Amino acid sequence: MTFDSGIHEECGIVGVFSADESVTRIAFFGLFALQHRGQESAGFASWDGTELRIKTAMGLVAQGFTEDQISLLPGHSAIGHTRYSTTGSSHSKNAQPIRSKGPNGEIALAHNGNVVNSVELRRELIDWGCNFETSNDSEIIAHMLTYLPGSDWGQRCSSLMRRLSGAYSLTVLTKEGVMAIRDPLGVRPLCIGSLGKGWVIASETCALDHVGAKFIREVMPGEAIMVNSDGIKTIYQKPSNGRAASCIFENIYFARPDSSLDGKLVYTQRMEMGAELARKYPVEADLVIGIPDSATAAAVGYSKASGIPYGEGVIKNRYAGRTFILPDQRQRELGVRRKLNPLPDIIKNKRLVVVDDSIVRGTTTPHVVNLLKSGGAKEIHLRICAPPIKWPCHLGVDLASKRELIAANKSVEEIREFIGADSLGYLDIENLLDSVNIPKDKVCLGCFSGNHPIPVQLEMDKLALEF
Ligand code: AMP
Repeated sequence: MTFDSGIHEECGIVGVFSADESVTRIAFFGLFALQHRGQESAGFASWDGTELRIKTAMGLVAQGFTEDQISLLPGHSAIGHTRYSTTGSSHSKNAQPIRSKGPNGEIALAHNGNVVNSVELRRELIDWGCNFETSNDSEIIAHMLTYLPGSDWGQRCSSLMRRLSGAYSLTVLTKEGVMAIRDPLGVRPLCIGSLGKGWVIASETCALDHVGAKFIREVMPGEAIMVNSDGIKTIYQKPSNGRAASCIFENIYFARPDSSLDGKLVYTQRMEMGAELARKYPVEADLVIGIPDSATAAAVGYSKASGIPYGEGVIKNRYAGRTFILPDQRQRELGVRRKLNPLPDIIKNKRLVVVDDSIVRGTTTPHVVNLLKSGGAKEIHLRICAPPIKWPCHLGVDLASKRELIAANKSVEEIREFIGADSLGYLDIENLLDSVNIPKDKVCLGCFSGNHPIPVQLEMDKLALEF
């Protein structure tokens, strides 16, 4: 079997327990609110006291699951998972939740993140007699939980956190209740809310809002929580050395603007990124526009801080899929066309400040600039919230390899020329930290600085091992 040791999982996860109602519908609506975190596959697992059922489907949550299918997953506890498509790993067998059965019982698990020491752990588990059905690092975590020593889930979570290195926010369905587990660095988000006589665990707070749950708190880095008919209980908390590494790309791009991360509304943080851009790179212009949807808040912030009016210059077709990983140049170009349409009457003969969240490979931005020029824009001053991305991510965001990252290979001036903008300004790391208002030792800035919070094998994402 070929094992992709570097599959980068960008995912959304939920978990629900209620003492007085069947919960898979709630998990469905929670996952539906996290659709932006993954569009490749969706899945649910439920436990009704007698049978642990799992169903997965390719595509969007609402495409894969009808009312009838949800009703086939009864139970007071359920988890759900939606997965982003990443290059070369688009298989139905990689869809989650994943089932594992071992000496500690039967579980289903949903994972957001990326394990960096999966190769050695997998070898060890095979030696212990585990059979692997997928090439997914999440299956390793599931088997670890069902095989690791420990007389209760708290002890097993402690062993898990001792052995596992990387990013993992997890919801785990067990016969004793639903667990929420977050890695000691807290790389990916995970929060918990109350709903009637139960609890909802979700990647982002927007999912709690949509199902009517009341936000309680974030799951702490290194914490494992169990929710069941006995209530909510921290079953393990790894002692902290003070270092956390929440992914700042969540704040810039990935999370929904109406979610809060670490108690701060993402929309406000993005407005502040735009304001910082306005202070750092002022320019004479007629209109500020944002590339929808992820840069809208930052454009509003730029406009407020600069006094230049804000307007919509392009309309996004909300139903267009993701352009990011389309395989060739022509398709990517068409992808941008399919997604964005300029408003000529608004942008014609205008000097535009165009705010975007990030430049990764640099393939879509030249097309966006072209699109605006073809709509009659006179000047384009591009302002980017993310500092230049020079390093791949090993902790769960699909950011391409170093070779493909434009800022790893070109200077800012060369990038400006390549994308055809009249000026280009990126936030630097310090400005970014100021705008999100998070201390440096609590975030991961690895894609900008190359300083990853845990040692990672360089270019691990390209590694594929034969077993
Ligand atoms: P590009 O520079 O052509 O690689 O594309 C960058 C654009 O893709 C950004 O402006 C984002 O809107 C979006 N993007 C950035 N990172 C990701 C990611 N990890 N997954 C999906 N889309 C992304």
